[in-house]
Amino acid sequence: MSTFKRQLAERQPDGSARRWLYVPYDQLSDSIGPLSREEPRELGIVLIENKWKAARRPYHKQKLALVLANQRHFALEQAARGFAVRYEVTDGPYRDALATVIAELGALRVMEPAERELRADIAPLEGSGGLEVIEHEGWLTSADQFEASQRRGPPWRMDAFYRQVRRDRGILLEGGKPVGGKYSFDAENRKPWNGEPPAPAPPQFPVDPIKKEVGALIERRFADHPGTLELAALPATAQEAKALWSWAKANCLHHFGPYEDAMSVRSAGLFHTRISALLNLHRLLPTHVVEEALALDAPLNSIEGFVRQVIGWREFVRHVHRATDGLRDLPAGATPLEAEPGAGGYERWSGRRWPAESAKSTIGGGAAPNELGAQEPLPPAFWGRTSGFQCLDRVVSDVWASGYGHHITRLMVLANIATLLDVTPRELADWFWVAYTDAYDWVVEPNVLGMGSFALGELMTTKPYVSGAAYINRMSDFCAGCAFDPKHDCPLTALYWSFLARHEDKLASNPRLRLPLASLRRRSADSRRNDTQVFDWVRGTLAAGGELRPDERPRG
Ligand SMILES: Cc1cc2nc3c(=O)[nH]c(=O)nc-3n(C[C@H](O)[C@H](O)[C@H](O)COP(=O)(O)OP(=O)(O)OC[C@H]3O[C@@H](n4cnc5c(N)ncnc54)[C@H](O)[C@@H]3O)c2cc1C
Ligand code: SF4
Repeated sequence: MSTFKRQLAERQPDGSARRWLYVPYDQLSDSIGPLSREEPRELGIVLIENKWKAARRPYHKQKLALVLANQRHFALEQAARGFAVRYEVTDGPYRDALATVIAELGALRVMEPAERELRADIAPLEGSGGLEVIEHEGWLTSADQFEASQRRGPPWRMDAFYRQVRRDRGILLEGGKPVGGKYSFDAENRKPWNGEPPAPAPPQFPVDPIKKEVGALIERRFADHPGTLELAALPATAQEAKALWSWAKANCLHHFGPYEDAMSVRSAGLFHTRISALLNLHRLLPTHVVEEALALDAPLNSIEGFVRQVIGWREFVRHVHRATDGLRDLPAGATPLEAEPGAGGYERWSGRRWPAESAKSTIGGGAAPNELGAQEPLPPAFWGRTSGFQCLDRVVSDVWASGYGHHITRLMVLANIATLLDVTPRELADWFWVAYTDAYDWVVEPNVLGMGSFALGELMTTKPYVSGAAYINRMSDFCAGCAFDPKHDCPLTALYWSFLARHEDKLASNPRLRLPLASLRRRSADSRRNDTQVFDWVRGTLAAGGELRPDERPRG
């Protein structure tokens, strides 16, 4: 018998005469919902571990480990509190496992799942009365608040939503006015980092027998999945989640603001908190981290910057996803849909087919909006093949080593380069979904399709987030170790101009692009021709898995 099953059996109370609650993999909290207030001896919980979900996409091994180890520890923690735990291990969709449990135990309750994929999978059980869906108490804001904040939308704007949430909850307000005189200190939060103050090392956690068992399971059953499994970097118990948050409060939040946009070869996370994976599993609660951040004695620009991410961006993207039925139903009309989950270019890189037959289902593979009509494949460089772009190679290698990267590396390196190369947005979204430990449909799809690749047009952002070498050079130390020179021959700058030229018609009406497009028109015909040659060279070389070298760069 496995260590987990033995420990669960040892703690398991008698399961008879109870009401039952299904707890999805990302609702691992006993501070919200029925688990926070009902009598342990009257309530039982159902948890499901299934190969079907893990095999739908080639998820990073560290992500599989994070979810499984947290779910197993959560089962043990709740059994120790006196709740009966029914832990199902299955190969098929959730709906099949739940139907069997419902036939035996009667109807279950469930807090509404955050992921649309899970909502779609279990919908038939709700229709048949086997599942009662109750409110998810982990969110900080309601759909009404979102709608109230967007009186003139769509398009939807995060800053209006954020101001509304600040006012509704009285956060950082004094006499009805924002503390410090403005709602956002973003303009002050754009410092590059030169090594001082020192960036904290990410915390390590004990590798207990549950984690070891999960690690062995992953190496055995999910050996084809990419990424490095590092059990010592894995917070999995309720205590370890608290320890990660304490580390973030003590080491990150003070300097969070000024270096929020900085990037460095010396630190993948700098002063970012690394809490997203645990927030999205509800091991940490947004309401709790916001309260505690507000109580810290730290500079206002840092605290406001952090709070804005959690009560603003995180909630906003969730509402955009919910209001559009997972980006399927956009104000401009219905979006094309993928029949099967995508693997983000895994097949071309590894030569192995994906998804497995067993992972297919009736719930489809996600929405594929594509405002700019981008159709290029994601290059193998995103899977670890050397591209010759130091910024890209460094960020990609950090992601496959840890399943983590902070916001600006995701936006201004990965999504920027893919967008400049006209990579299909859906393939990019699938890559982000498999590569990051914090990725779930409600958060990864709006961030990649809406913000990172402009596939939703101006629905949730005012312009495409694209830039040439100047931005990366200003905000990072990547360029110092690169074969290219950001001021002379970096291909990203030519890619930026050729992107604007290719999409000029679609972007011409965007007021925020008036200046760049005016500069584009002033570019000489020779420069514009060379921009196109560089685009073709980079696209062709990277698509073939090759490495870019300065002496092979087309010269105008
Ligand atoms: C292309 C792209 C893809 C992304 N994919 C994901 C994803 O799959 N999952 C995910 O949780 N975040 C995603 N983000 C948002 C953001 O990059 C991560 O939440 C953040 O980097 C997580 O690291 P952290 O915990 O150190 O964050 P910190 O910088 O310390 O921020 C604190 C918290 O704010 C929240 N947050 C900040 N920005 C966002 C945002 N745009 N959307 C949602 N929450 C936000 C996160 O919960 C984060 O933990 C993506 C952003 C981009 C540009
Ligand atoms: S020179 Fe260009 S490719 Fe190299 S790190 Fe800088 S921005 Fe990236």
